[in-house]
Amino acid sequence: MVGEPVKSKLKKMGVTLEYAKDGTFPQFAAAHAADKILLLADRNTRRYAEELSLPHTSLCFIDEDEPVPDEAVCGKAVQEARSCDYVLAVGSGTLNDTAKYAALMTGKKSGVLATAPSMDGYASPVAAIMKGGFKVSEAAHVPSDILVDPAVLAAAPQEMIAAGAGDILGKYTCLTDWRLAQYHTGEAVDEEAFSDMLDAVQKVSSSVEDIARRDKCGVEKLTDALIISGLAMAEAGNSRPASGAEHHISHYLEMWFVAQKRRVPLHGIKVGLGTLVSAYLYEALERDGVTFKGDAATYLAAKAIPPVQELRTTLQKLGAPVQFSALGISRELFCETIKKAHTVRSRYTVLTLLQELGLTERYLPQLEALFY
Ligand SMILES: [Zn+2]
Repeated sequence: MVGEPVKSKLKKMGVTLEYAKDGTFPQFAAAHAADKILLLADRNTRRYAEELSLPHTSLCFIDEDEPVPDEAVCGKAVQEARSCDYVLAVGSGTLNDTAKYAALMTGKKSGVLATAPSMDGYASPVAAIMKGGFKVSEAAHVPSDILVDPAVLAAAPQEMIAAGAGDILGKYTCLTDWRLAQYHTGEAVDEEAFSDMLDAVQKVSSSVEDIARRDKCGVEKLTDALIISGLAMAEAGNSRPASGAEHHISHYLEMWFVAQKRRVPLHGIKVGLGTLVSAYLYEALERDGVTFKGDAATYLAAKAIPPVQELRTTLQKLGAPVQFSALGISRELFCETIKKAHTVRSRYTVLTLLQELGLTERYLPQLEALFY
């Protein structure tokens, strides 16, 4: 359970975080006693929607196992949201994004009942939806309520738990990228967001055994970190505390999967792999005595990242892949990703540094041998 400081920071953002009491959410039910609530659920989460004891609800059922937030799904949610007072996503990922989007389009408030600790978009104001086959980020509102039942989250599929942990472990490298940008290019670092995020990722790191066993306390720590990630982004006013080169690698691969019309591996699974690349690069650059503006301070900051071997073992314990080839991508695509992922965002990261120093070709064979 997050501490009071985090709860009150969320409150200031307009977000009420409630943990279940015997599977119910009395505070939420009381606050919305008069509201007609639209419950947004898919095949995997419908049972949780049906188990919720709230007085006035209607179900917007997306009859799919893995819906994508495209025009059809979003359109249906917007349509049904018009006749309701509040939109509650019963799910993570797509459903959370769709609820935020439907709320934005209809001027209603929204919330989320988290069903899987798989992503960090719970407390985020962004709705990532698909328009014309492309993923776009709509500036939506932060959900007014985040409902957490650790028993439900601990029962989520292992792959989703592994993905959430991968997304959080990636904060080690994205925070280091932020320091690199600070020392190398003079970018500002929001210290409060930085330390909130680092604190949360360290708590997850020390609970990996519990998370791997799906222990309720472990999964709760993971969920807390995913919520805090959204909070840290709000504090910083951008996604710096949550996204660096490891995310750019994930985004680059995602575009390829979408273009190929293939099932996109979970975000955090790809981020976990990207984290290994970034962590290795920070280790290797220091080991090889590579110099650049701000190098000493950057190498010092990089000490916060666990050794790459340890990160690899951690991902394995969680059942996450540690080789890119496990995602079914080609060796050529892996190399292209390392070379080009820095172009997906204009944010300075270890991959940008590598390009700037002309060292990509030097480190590519090592990365390929270790992680492809
Ligand atoms: Zn992420």
